Amino acid sequence: MVKSSSSSSETADVQSVLEAVYKSAKRFVGRGKVATYIPALARVPKEKFGMAVVAVDGSEAVVGDAEEAFSIQSISKVFSLLLAMRLRDQELWKRVGREPSGNPFNSLVQLEYEKGVPRNPFINAGAHITTDCIVVGNDDPKQAILAEVRALAGNPAIDFDMEVAESEREHGYRNAAIANFLKANGNLESEVDDVLDVYFHQCSIAMSCRDLARAGSFLANRGVDVATGRRIATERKTRRINALMATCGLYDAVGSFAFHVGVPAKSGVGGGMLAIIPGEMAVAVWSPGLDAQGNSYVGVKALELFTAKIGRSIY
Ligand code: GLN
Repeated sequence: MVKSSSSSSETADVQSVLEAVYKSAKRFVGRGKVATYIPALARVPKEKFGMAVVAVDGSEAVVGDAEEAFSIQSISKVFSLLLAMRLRDQELWKRVGREPSGNPFNSLVQLEYEKGVPRNPFINAGAHITTDCIVVGNDDPKQAILAEVRALAGNPAIDFDMEVAESEREHGYRNAAIANFLKANGNLESEVDDVLDVYFHQCSIAMSCRDLARAGSFLANRGVDVATGRRIATERKTRRINALMATCGLYDAVGSFAFHVGVPAKSGVGGGMLAIIPGEMAVAVWSPGLDAQGNSYVGVKALELFTAKIGRSIY
């Protein structure tokens, strides 16, 4: 077993914990609803379920469909925040807040009465701001995001799913409304269509649980990529990204997730989740059935079982 009093984790131990969690959480597979707003997500089988762990000592453990690529959707908001913080940092926080929204991820209501300043970078409106920073700061913003994700995961084969990206655009009326509203309030520097194009592509990035846990490992390792030892973000920025994940990563279900699971995490409507146990490990889960707030039903349960089994919470 992983020792609850120590920060070390050996591959075999984590592997056996993962297997026990997988077995136990499997009973929830089939619950929830697969996202249906675009056909490419609607046809993903609900039975899929995988998990991957990358520990700060470099050990890895996987179970189930951990090597199958899925649409990371809003988990990409973690990577766009990272890039935007690198480009802007202080100035960014004048344009986007750091408070949980208590509203659905694609809500427009709050944005109107808070005059075009999104509550946080993990709701859609906030991600349009971070994406805008990337559009302004790069000649090829889509490639900049893709290159970052590929480097973090150590997998040059990671790519956009062009069918998903195109579908997002076709059905992207709410995102278009949000981006137009931001522009009308003077909170978007680039053109609405340019921001939306990059945003839809970043949502379409397809990667596996193993890729995702590797890509998120720097968040568990004080800003240093576990595989390469490369500094990805300063310790302060890393703490801040984790804090935003803990307070805003699961939209209007973030309180309940803190209560039941107790670690920073980010979800996406593709059914993926990236959770961070600071100083120890990054955990990725994928199962496409979603709960009412758009978070993976099995993913939340699996993470609850996992943190309970190893006795971890940041609180
Ligand atoms: N593509 C989705 C959207 O923009 C992403 C939302 C999500 O994963 N929560 O609405």
